[in-house]
Amino acid sequence: MTRIAVLDTEHCRPQKCNFLCQRVCPMVRTGKEAIVIDKETNKPVINEKLCSGCGICVNKCPFDAIIIVNIPEELEEPVYQYGRNGFRLYNLPTPKKGVVGVVGANGIGKSTMIRILAGEIKPNLGGNSSWDETLKRFRGREIHDYLEKLSRGEIRAAYKPQYVDSIPKVVRGRVGDALEKNDDSGQLDEIAERLNIKNSLDKKINELSGGELQRFAIAACLLKDADVYLIDEPSSYLDVRERLNLAGVIRDMKDKFIFVVEHDLVVLDYLSDYIHVLYGKPTAYGIISGIKGVRVGINEYLSGFLRAENMRFRNEIRFDVRSPSERGNRSELMRYPPLEKRYGEFSLTVKQGILYEMEILGVLGPNATGKTTFVKILAGAVEADNTGLDMKLRVSYKPQYIKPSMALVDSLKIKPEFVERFGIKSLLDRSMQELSGGELQKVAIADCLTKDAEIYLLDEPSAYLDVEERLRLARYLKKFAYDKEASVIVVDHDMLLIDYLSDELLVFIGESGKNGNASKPMGLRDGMNKFLKELGITFRRDMETGRPRANKPGSVKDREQRSEGEYYYKD
Ligand code: ADP
Ligand code: SF4
Ligand code: SF4
Repeated sequence: MTRIAVLDTEHCRPQKCNFLCQRVCPMVRTGKEAIVIDKETNKPVINEKLCSGCGICVNKCPFDAIIIVNIPEELEEPVYQYGRNGFRLYNLPTPKKGVVGVVGANGIGKSTMIRILAGEIKPNLGGNSSWDETLKRFRGREIHDYLEKLSRGEIRAAYKPQYVDSIPKVVRGRVGDALEKNDDSGQLDEIAERLNIKNSLDKKINELSGGELQRFAIAACLLKDADVYLIDEPSSYLDVRERLNLAGVIRDMKDKFIFVVEHDLVVLDYLSDYIHVLYGKPTAYGIISGIKGVRVGINEYLSGFLRAENMRFRNEIRFDVRSPSERGNRSELMRYPPLEKRYGEFSLTVKQGILYEMEILGVLGPNATGKTTFVKILAGAVEADNTGLDMKLRVSYKPQYIKPSMALVDSLKIKPEFVERFGIKSLLDRSMQELSGGELQKVAIADCLTKDAEIYLLDEPSAYLDVEERLRLARYLKKFAYDKEASVIVVDHDMLLIDYLSDELLVFIGESGKNGNASKPMGLRDGMNKFLKELGITFRRDMETGRPRANKPGSVKDREQRSEGEYYYKD
């Protein structure tokens, strides 16, 4: 076994602990320099050769900043390592013409891989190696030619970054002007049309909504004339139609090298021709699997076992195809009357409905059709036009866009059980503005669940969470609804997540920004059928895992299901 020691320099706060790790290390106590202090950075450095692996420093560090872990023996040296006790990435992907989908937990090295492919960071083989050494190491592999070109500066990469929220800080001015600058291929008109941003071209970049910003960033990337397109999490803030539409646009660029990192498995599945799975231990090390077919790759990822690698990296995630929810002893929590609301051009109507205790109500629908408004009416933050809703129930609400304040995470007084569950202990003494998108999301969810209420509303909780975090959250919300005897309402665009967690569905139909109509809460199958029919897309269930998959338009299954009106799946 090879042991590696990783220090998360962002979390490490020696000023607060006075180098506790060094003081408790038994090796240091016996005079061996297993931990020394780096004079320049004023952070501890762990010497892996002298460390005995006792784990005492790991347990004692108040900020969870140290990871000591054994890695599989057969691994060669890493392809890239961020400094002495930094994260290590093993292997490289296989470039193929077409779309190579990339799936893996947050912090497992996906962005590092993308930055290598983009030529932004040079593979260092764990030390300081030259391009010659790297090329030698990869001789005979499919990536070799790619690396050779990269080393000569002959790869032109187009890149869509993971977080679009910060784009307005860097790029200013009119959307149309910014896109024209990128338009190497003269396809601005076509791409703008297909990504439905024609109406945004005259807007300023800092006026765009999250979804518009995302489509702008994707358009800017696709318009470039490049050898490789690197697209990091394209689906955040997009609704289901926009996600599948985008997938179609990317698929049509088949003769290019395209890598897409994506956590929405329905989108990843629909989009990709091949899959690479990244596994390992987040923030410590990541291994890029061999290239796999799409169905097999995603199924193996869910099963936690990679066959070709003979590697179990976690327990299986299962999709039980459930019978319609057995309401049994669940009792009514509230009834709401038909609701109406108008804002200038926009109008919303909601059919009456009942919320039940111990139940998860999934909400699906296009962006800007009034889902948030509905949620706010229930929360008492907005009043309906037709009726004053006399809410006696308390509502705890997590909004879609979370505005990070300067305040410390600790000031939210999140219950210890949620601090533990969402793994946010090391974030408590940080200001919310310092957090990454995924960290902020977990803090906001934990804060929402901490409050005492009868109804919990989570608006797009999946944004910036990885697949495992999404499904873990889903499983936990079921338990939470049950234990609390609460009603949990989840608005989300990740179909796999909604399928996984919903007892009932509320479907919004309408035209973004103009009108929205909400159905009554319906059974999962009826609701999905209604929603998919509206989108004109059919789904099936994967035989092996039970996960939902989008059918390719015009395929045999697609035509069969359409003609039978079974848009969700056939038994
Ligand atoms: P992913 O894209 O899968 O979320 P990343 O490639 O961004 O993963 O990061 C993997 C790990 O590498 C992170 O958890 C972090 O600890 C480390 N890392 C990323 N960027 C840097 C950097 N510039 N310096 C040091 N460590 C980094
Ligand atoms: Fe303190 Fe932990 Fe950093 Fe060591 S690793 S100096 S214990 S914060
Ligand atoms: Fe020292 Fe044990 Fe930490 Fe290794 S794991 S650095 S031996 S305390």
